[in-house]
Amino acid sequence: MRNKLIISFSALFFILLFTSSTPIHSSKIYAQSSILKTIVIDPGHGLPDPGAQGAYSNESDIALAIALQLGKKIQEALPMCKVVYTRTDRNLPNGLTDKNAANRYRAKLANDVHGDLYISIHANDYETGRKKVIDGYHTEKYYSWSGKGSKRKKVWHTRKVADYHYEKLPGTINGTETYIWAMNKNDDKVKFANDSKSEFAGNDDSSYQYDSPEAKILANLRVQKYFDNSKSIAEFVQEEMGKIGRVNLGVKQRDWEGIWVLQATAMPSILVETGFICTPSEEAYLNSVAGQNEMANSILNAIIRYKAKLENINNSTLINTINGK
Ligand SMILES: [Zn+2]
Repeated sequence: MRNKLIISFSALFFILLFTSSTPIHSSKIYAQSSILKTIVIDPGHGLPDPGAQGAYSNESDIALAIALQLGKKIQEALPMCKVVYTRTDRNLPNGLTDKNAANRYRAKLANDVHGDLYISIHANDYETGRKKVIDGYHTEKYYSWSGKGSKRKKVWHTRKVADYHYEKLPGTINGTETYIWAMNKNDDKVKFANDSKSEFAGNDDSSYQYDSPEAKILANLRVQKYFDNSKSIAEFVQEEMGKIGRVNLGVKQRDWEGIWVLQATAMPSILVETGFICTPSEEAYLNSVAGQNEMANSILNAIIRYKAKLENINNSTLINTINGK
């Protein structure tokens, strides 16, 4: 598969070199997809959007804590990489109050800083069912009728009435899963991936015009590479989570609103659902310093492995190109 890719890349390089009159940034394909210079870390949600709510904490705060830990660890372990956060406080990015506008901002920021990798941090939730919880009782007056005809009268009584609310049942699922965008969304990613078109974020225009046929081919190739690279790092994240004893729920492709940002970023992108905030043991873990530290370390280790993989592919691609393979 890799050889096939290398051959098609080399072939494309020569086709474009000899057939096109417009300048082609062929080296850019290698450079953009094979070097990890800028890592965009995106803590999901942000107030007024708390994300999923646990018994005493919310997803947006957990995501922020893990994201800040991760950024710090990247800067220590990989000082050559630049870290860009989409937000660094409890609120939605850039003073926004609308979560859709915030998602567009996240994607635009990532594209504007020419990120090489986008990592969105979230906490998971699911529908666990609800239970009725009695808060207390109050008395209520009611009446009935007694007697007949002119003797008929209201008789007052009191009764005890429960005050209650419904609470989400505690979850039982635990573990970590990592999302990449669904393959059927590759066309969208191609649009977003086309250079300096980040204003396309959030704009579902299927009649996108490329500058040239070559630009379209390059964009498609780049997106295929983003997909492969996203899958690689997602698998590394899951493996690293498994190594520290987390339940490995796998790499998943999904197409839902919350994952839109993965399609809108012109770079490999993943969304890590660190754990289930609705499950008491998981909520405690995600809120603990030790848990946040473990999550950040696992993702960092995955990034280190991913970077090494990119550099290996890059070296062998360049060697094959030099040797004319
Ligand atoms: Zn979320």
